[in-house]
Amino acid sequence: MADVQNQIGLIMQLRRRGIRDPNVLRAMERIPRELFVDEAFSEHAYQDIALPIECGQTISQPFVVAYMTEKLDLKPNHKVLEIGTGSGYQSAILSQLCRRVYTIERWRELQKAAEARLAELKIANVTTIIGDGWLGWPPQAPFDRIIVTAAAVDAPAALLDQLKDGGRMIIPLGETRDSQSLVQIDKTPEGLAETPLLSVRFVPLVHGRVKRD
Ligand code: SAH
Repeated sequence: MADVQNQIGLIMQLRRRGIRDPNVLRAMERIPRELFVDEAFSEHAYQDIALPIECGQTISQPFVVAYMTEKLDLKPNHKVLEIGTGSGYQSAILSQLCRRVYTIERWRELQKAAEARLAELKIANVTTIIGDGWLGWPPQAPFDRIIVTAAAVDAPAALLDQLKDGGRMIIPLGETRDSQSLVQIDKTPEGLAETPLLSVRFVPLVHGRVKRD
């Protein structure tokens, strides 16, 4: 069971840090983060910190999840692509605010665990995919929104191609882990418009083989 007091504390903290969109706050309130972290870290589930998950990856800090979600400016009819499913927490939040989420993870173990958590929460509008996020998901393209939850040096070309005209991508970009900034990329009639948002620390968007074992 979600710890209601802790959950309320987290929402207050998000408000203090400037998250204003009531729909985003409601989604954060509805999804119990403790279901997405290892039992060993349950007592920290409602603190505003990133936590380790399996396969050497991390579940993002709640503020960053809320902030990225707010910046996506989701509409109920949107089809969204997420790269880096990890625990599935960000996917669960997105699922509350749009029509359909496709989420890609390179580790089978993480994809399976995320799928099970989403099923437990009876979330039916998220499709989890094991694959290489650099390639996006052509069968369902184009997407209204794309969110990348691992850092690259440049936005992957395939993802930019799979973004609708008028669409938006939120992605951490940076040469090193200490120099990443979250960037909003809008596909406008005049071309791609990049807006740097804030500095962040994400695990890298890895090139190469999917991990099936
Ligand atoms: N959104 C996640 C945070 C995930 S951390 C959450 O809410 O928990 C970033 C994830 O990106 C990791 O699970 C990592 O395995 C995955 N990742 C890294 N490179 C990838 C790639 N090329 N394709 C798909 N997933 C990738």
